[in-house]
Amino acid sequence: MSIIVVGGGLVGSLHALMLARLGFEVRLFDTRIDPRIGKEEGKSINLALSTRGRHALGLVECEEEVLATSVPMRGRYIHNKDETYFTLDYSPNGDCIHSVNRKKLNELLLEKAEQKGVKIFFRHKCSSVNFVINSVSFEKLDELDGSNNPCITTVKYDYLFGCDGANSIVRKEMIWSLDLFSQEFIQHNYKELEISMKDDDFAIDPNYLHIWPRNEFMLIALGNHDKSFTLTLFVPRNIFADLDTNQKVVNFFKDNFPDAMELIGVRKLTDDFFANPTGRLLTVKCNPYHHRSALLLGDAAHAMVPFFGQGMNSGFEDCEKFISILQKNDNDFKLAMTEYSLVRHPDSLAVCQLSLYNYVEMRAKVNSILFRIRRKMTFMLAKIFPSTFKPLYPSVAFTSTPYSEVIKITHRQDMIINRLLISLAIVLPTVCTAAVIFYLVSRRSGIPNKNPDSYPEYIITLIDRPVRYAWSWVPGDIQKGLGNTASGVFGYFTPK
Ligand SMILES: Cc1cc2nc3c(=O)[nH]c(=O)nc-3n(C[C@H](O)[C@H](O)[C@H](O)COP(=O)(O)OP(=O)(O)OC[C@H]3O[C@@H](n4cnc5c(N)ncnc54)[C@H](O)[C@@H]3O)c2cc1C
Repeated sequence: MSIIVVGGGLVGSLHALMLARLGFEVRLFDTRIDPRIGKEEGKSINLALSTRGRHALGLVECEEEVLATSVPMRGRYIHNKDETYFTLDYSPNGDCIHSVNRKKLNELLLEKAEQKGVKIFFRHKCSSVNFVINSVSFEKLDELDGSNNPCITTVKYDYLFGCDGANSIVRKEMIWSLDLFSQEFIQHNYKELEISMKDDDFAIDPNYLHIWPRNEFMLIALGNHDKSFTLTLFVPRNIFADLDTNQKVVNFFKDNFPDAMELIGVRKLTDDFFANPTGRLLTVKCNPYHHRSALLLGDAAHAMVPFFGQGMNSGFEDCEKFISILQKNDNDFKLAMTEYSLVRHPDSLAVCQLSLYNYVEMRAKVNSILFRIRRKMTFMLAKIFPSTFKPLYPSVAFTSTPYSEVIKITHRQDMIINRLLISLAIVLPTVCTAAVIFYLVSRRSGIPNKNPDSYPEYIITLIDRPVRYAWSWVPGDIQKGLGNTASGVFGYFTPK
């Protein structure tokens, strides 16, 4: 059986490795030069690896090796405009995501794939696919024909995997068979910058993902194993267009990220700003992911904006999901491709939606007190009712709960928290009003002076009704849970 993987990026190299480990004969084609001998261009230097990606890497025995050179990040480190800061942990249990080097990870997966017998062809650019006769054509970029055009080679396959990224040619070739295809750019572009190592150490705390949220835009920084930081500036296109001189860039940073500018250095900031490319961000949706004997995986199937750090992680999960469906179907690829398309689609749509949402949370919501109160409440409730309350970020980053399920759970929790907040909003003013009434009435009737023992009963009578009313708004399972675990509530507040 002949299997072809188009695209040897993160997802293609992992998928080829997984298939080779099952004993299949795999050929992998990529348009780039071998990253093990060439310089990586474009895309982000480091990525956040979380549980879904780690699990898939564990299946091919790469997880430990990748983690060994990663930088763990346990939360967000928020830099305010006035140069004060605060931190927000990612999970109530201290879980971490890991900053990993894209190039090194890709090299490792390619190396392991080759060791397992995958034949890799670099500088082969997929140009067309014939899904009827199962053939795929590549331009051999290093071999020119008589008219100085790249030579074309056409290869037959039994099964084809399109792992050729957001601008997938395999997807383009199957476009007429798709029920859904959409591609949407967001209005914000990105640019990578760098904070170098300082006095042989990290210049800022490496165990956090640093964010400078400025509502309309933001700057983030992830630590690298070599003690530098990769910064990414996400800004609306019109602002980028305006930053066309050194002075404008410096002024922009002075106004919005003065502390970051100091860490980068003015000279390095302007040099890197104009030397590094500006990247665009898009969401790609399509359905189904298969056509005849071909299947799309990773960004080719569902490119997303990078704000939840799930593009690679969900792509790795794609590979794991496909392999488990394949094995369940006794290695019947056609059956597996059809089933995979069906079961994976809701989750791919969901992770694209979550990724768009998280941009708003990172650049704006973290600045809001109400957001932070809600977040604290969710984490507290998650500690008290771990099987009922699952905060959004940890569910995405530290579990393998299907993304679509995470959205449903989050909506349900949001409703509960809204009701709790409304209840509090009713109880607090009611208690205060009752206290004032109690004070005024008791002064007139002289009750406190006469019989202090009657205070409690008196207070209870005054506040009983409104509290009962507010309590009736609290959903039944929470009422029950709160009653049963009163000791848990106190345990949570006991300092450790
Ligand atoms: C700024 C930024 C930050 C990100 N941060 C994170 C993060 O923290 N965590 C996370 O999980 N994800 C992150 N992502 C997303 C992640 O980079 C992608 O989801 C991931 O790279 C997808 O892998 P892929 O293999 O599907 O596609 P790609 O990485 O794009 O690889 C596609 C491969 O196909 C090859 N190719 C393309 N066209 C052809 C062709 N015609 N013929 C042959 N080969 C071809 C390319 O050379 C490439 O090697 C980020 C993305 C960006 C832009």
